[in-house]
Amino acid sequence: MDLIHPRTPADVAEALRDSSASGRRVLVVGGRRHLDKGNPAEVDAELWTTQLDQVIAYEPAEMLAVVQAGMRVGALAELLAENGQEWPADAPADATVGGVLASGSSSARRLKVGALRDTVTEMMLVTGDGRIVKTGARTVKNVTGYDLHRLLTGSLGTLGVITQVALKVRPWPESRRTLVVPGGLDLATALAAEVPLAGGVLATPGGIEVLLEGWAGEVDELEGAVSALAPDAAPLDGAPFPRAPWWTWPGDGTIVEAAVSPSRVAAVVDGSGAFAALAGVGLAWVATSAEELGALRARVAAAGGIAPAVRGAGGLGEGPVPGHEVHRRLKASFDPAGILAPGRGWHR
Ligand SMILES: Cc1cc2nc3c(=O)[nH]c(=O)nc-3n(C[C@H](O)[C@H](O)[C@H](O)COP(=O)(O)OP(=O)(O)OC[C@H]3O[C@@H](n4cnc5c(N)ncnc54)[C@H](O)[C@@H]3O)c2cc1C
Repeated sequence: MDLIHPRTPADVAEALRDSSASGRRVLVVGGRRHLDKGNPAEVDAELWTTQLDQVIAYEPAEMLAVVQAGMRVGALAELLAENGQEWPADAPADATVGGVLASGSSSARRLKVGALRDTVTEMMLVTGDGRIVKTGARTVKNVTGYDLHRLLTGSLGTLGVITQVALKVRPWPESRRTLVVPGGLDLATALAAEVPLAGGVLATPGGIEVLLEGWAGEVDELEGAVSALAPDAAPLDGAPFPRAPWWTWPGDGTIVEAAVSPSRVAAVVDGSGAFAALAGVGLAWVATSAEELGALRARVAAAGGIAPAVRGAGGLGEGPVPGHEVHRRLKASFDPAGILAPGRGWHR
């Protein structure tokens, strides 16, 4: 296995041009925290992004950070914390910014902070045949053309190597509080609907966690709204949210990330052992086994969703992928020699 350690976007372009010419198949690698997501791909080389870790510009007053994609999430968090700001990724500190975006991860707080792809205003990437492309702009009002940065989000290293991004960051909330509520998905769904601007409402077999964040007075008010529906709610100031993120669940069995419409989540997790479902969002992480994976995926497909494995064996699954032909044509245009993680994406 060849290891490629580019230090500049030009190094990335040169390596990919050579690989396209010789047919060398390449897996892009960041912090290696999420490599199980995607179908298995046989490759001849790994391209590590971790030396592309420079801060290009950071304007706290503009709430914009421009960084190279191999920067560790923890290093970015430290930089932003100096100015009371954050990029709401909630990923492990050694994950990279590019890896978080390319794996299509989102914050468990996305009910309030939105999808991470919407924090990207500008992206630089290198296509499979070594073209350096810039998409978007640092200020949203200057954007013209296609939102290629949205396309690259979740592309699992199959369309290009993300080398640099401009990220909208946000101020740390003055107050953050987790409430623990006994109950199941029905109550969680009601809380997500009735508590305005909750940071997140997570249902697990052990109960519900509700994250509230904002100005101190606002958080007190939101706590009142939770208590009106769930009088047994108990506050846990300073607790992380989620308390047990799915990427820290013990063991090495399969975890799938089921995406369905929010009203169908209950049908998907019904009867599951370990699960965590974000009410109001339509995402649920479910621990399963090789024997149960097929039945779980059948339930998700019946609910109109997809259930890629994000840890362990299982790949993306067969799910109803809209626009399959469009996927295939995009792959052919971004990576004409098909050297970037062949077979890994939906466009097999
Ligand atoms: C089971 C599980 C669930 C998770 N769920 C979440 C979640 O919901 N929210 C969350 O914030 N975090 C989640 N994470 C944390 C996750 O580790 C990080 O969000 C992030 O995806 C990993 O970054 P990385 O640098 O380790 O990426 P890697 O694991 O190195 O790479 C991930 C994918 O991105 C590609 N890639 C990496 N860098 C680039 C690049 N620069 N350009 C193009 N492609 C690239 C790789 O080829 C690979 O397909 C989860 C982790 C696991 C194991």
